[in-house]
Amino acid sequence: MQTTAVVVGAGHAGLAMSRRLTERSIDHVVLERGEVAHSWRTQRWPTLRLLTPNWQTRLPGYDYTGDDPDGFMPAAGVVATLTDYARLVGTPVRTGTTVHALRAGPQGFEVHANDDLLHARIVVLATGACTRPAIPAIADAIPPPVATLTPLAYRDPGQLPAGGVLVVGASATGVQLAAEIHQSGRPVTLAVGEHIRLPRRYRGRDIFWWLEATGLLAERYDQIDDLTRARHLPSPQLTGTPEAVTTDLNSLTALGIRLVGRLGRVVDGVAQFSGGLANVCALADLKMNRFLTRADQWATASGLDDDLPPPHRFAPTRVDPGTPLELDLTSGEITTVVWATGFRPDHSWLDIPVRDHGGRIRHDGGVVTGAPGLYVLGLPVLRTRASTYIHGATADTAALADHLHSHLSSRRR
Ligand SMILES: Cc1cc2nc3c(=O)[nH]c(=O)nc-3n(C[C@H](O)[C@H](O)[C@H](O)COP(=O)(O)OP(=O)(O)OC[C@H]3O[C@@H](n4cnc5c(N)ncnc54)[C@H](O)[C@@H]3O)c2cc1C
Repeated sequence: MQTTAVVVGAGHAGLAMSRRLTERSIDHVVLERGEVAHSWRTQRWPTLRLLTPNWQTRLPGYDYTGDDPDGFMPAAGVVATLTDYARLVGTPVRTGTTVHALRAGPQGFEVHANDDLLHARIVVLATGACTRPAIPAIADAIPPPVATLTPLAYRDPGQLPAGGVLVVGASATGVQLAAEIHQSGRPVTLAVGEHIRLPRRYRGRDIFWWLEATGLLAERYDQIDDLTRARHLPSPQLTGTPEAVTTDLNSLTALGIRLVGRLGRVVDGVAQFSGGLANVCALADLKMNRFLTRADQWATASGLDDDLPPPHRFAPTRVDPGTPLELDLTSGEITTVVWATGFRPDHSWLDIPVRDHGGRIRHDGGVVTGAPGLYVLGLPVLRTRASTYIHGATADTAALADHLHSHLSSRRR
């Protein structure tokens, strides 16, 4: 089969790109190994809610119009939203179609999907940034009786054996799972590394309102000093709950969750934690306050001070001076380790030399380097800091659609 463009993946990014191609009358097909929103159906735990507010769930040709703009959508709501969106924009999607190889072809690309071969001049990779768990090498040293689990396989606390749980990682996923597992009655220890502390609400507004209003989310990839670092920052320590509560380390400590430092090594079954927990927390507090100062300055400059509650600051993170540095994983106290240590994309099926030694695609704002006609979407800070989130696909797909349109026109000339 011959088509102008193939989009791989029918998550929000692939669907948004399809809408852009339709706008430009570029014939295309979206290939999806499962169903629309497959990762939200199969790789997210049921109680997960977006940490971005509903009003921010925007895509090309779609704005949230429900009755809870300040609420946080559960995973099932994301599935429903994306399924409706695909219908609304008439996405030409072929479900149950796994792309297992992509090769350079005489006219562009050869896309090997199931038993079919498609020829396309343009290919857009929209297969997601969170397809695989990022698990540190020390995982191999966890002694066998202790069960290990990743967030992609986690569904609910009932899945875990009885006993204590060590959650490794205190970003969005780690803090939510630590709170949920603790509520099930299991003692939880949370290993805390570098993290981004933010309050859920500040001066009467959601923190994402501030991140957008101050222009932080709009910062472009080619204007960020340390882009590699920006692309590898952990997710903000935030959860979306119906009550819009702040889930920070102080609130977890108040629940009875024990904090320890970053998990560094496991030697003879003994987990060793960094002694730098207080420093890591102080740094996160400092960076949070730096952003709140930026927010206050923006509010003043915008003449909004009279419309908003006054500026204030949050209590520093409390760290127990007696925080343990070791935990014997053979003692029976801990029966499960949950790796909330992040996610990574999977582009291992590309038969085109566009990945670096770490397996990451080399690209310039989504335009893949060294393979004209190949694009990638949905990666953190792809074109702006907003690219990390669903609504970022609106601007990203507009820019990449312009680029690929020019590419097609120049080839025609
Ligand atoms: C736990 C978690 C919480 C998040 N919370 C938020 C949030 O609150 N707000 C927010 O804005 N963002 C959030 N995100 C980030 C982001 O929105 C998601 O990662 C989003 O799913 C990425 O969308 P995508 O379309 O790029 O990829 P995905 O939604 O992962 O879609 C990729 C699609 O490609 C398909 N696919 C993959 N490989 C192939 C192949 N070889 N052939 C065919 N099909 C393939 C998959 O089946 C999948 O359907 C969260 C992510 C995670 C993991």
